[in-house]
Amino acid sequence: MTKKINIAIDGYSSCGKGTLAKVIAKSLNYIFIDTGAMYRAVTYAMIQKGIDVNNLVELEELLKSLNITFKHLPEGDFYHTFLNGEDIENDIRTMPVSNLVSQVSKIQIVRDFLVKQQQEIGAQKGVVMDGRDIGTVVFPDAELKIFMTAKAEIRAQRRLNELKENGNLNISFEEVLKNLNERDYIDSNRENSPLLKAQDAIVIDNSELSKAEQNELALSFAHKAIENA
Ligand code: C5P
Repeated sequence: MTKKINIAIDGYSSCGKGTLAKVIAKSLNYIFIDTGAMYRAVTYAMIQKGIDVNNLVELEELLKSLNITFKHLPEGDFYHTFLNGEDIENDIRTMPVSNLVSQVSKIQIVRDFLVKQQQEIGAQKGVVMDGRDIGTVVFPDAELKIFMTAKAEIRAQRRLNELKENGNLNISFEEVLKNLNERDYIDSNRENSPLLKAQDAIVIDNSELSKAEQNELALSFAHKAIENA
């Protein structure tokens, strides 16, 4: 039997990390976990309950009541995030959540709460996880680490197209670009688990790559990593 490995995909906002992670997971029959969705779910719950990012007492109580799960139907590319049983996939992609999530993800008790769950999922191996600190903090021993990047304007345009396809028609390119740049700045400069390329990560800049080229490249790294495991 071939050995199962863990694959960490980190990088800047809206680089297509999730899309690539899903392709790899599907091809290898691995589990895909979108850790950004977990930070977004906590942020959404805070907005719903009106909890301020500085109120750590209320936040700690809130975390105890949160059960974040995913429902995955690979054949239809259906991958939805659930909070306490409620489908929140669309809610967590809206601008109010995008504008607050990097403030929430700076908070150590939030990171501890989510990283623990991520590590539990990864203990069984055969996981493709995308985020910001997967290769550095969550799975420092991951057998394959990919760090993704692309020009900010290209990322913003792709994200805008995606938002529009999902019915968010009143958003401008400038608003999306500003949000990406702000999140990247906060994520890269925070004290707790900043966005960093792990030393042993392979960089993929997909500014000029088609999806097919990118997938082929990443899958070839994945097969090599499995052979060497
Ligand atoms: O991946 P996505 O863009 O949906 O992530 C939303 C935000 O969640 C990021 O901008 C970052 O602040 C936070 N995040 C994080 N660590 C992760 C994944 C996401 O801090 N592993």
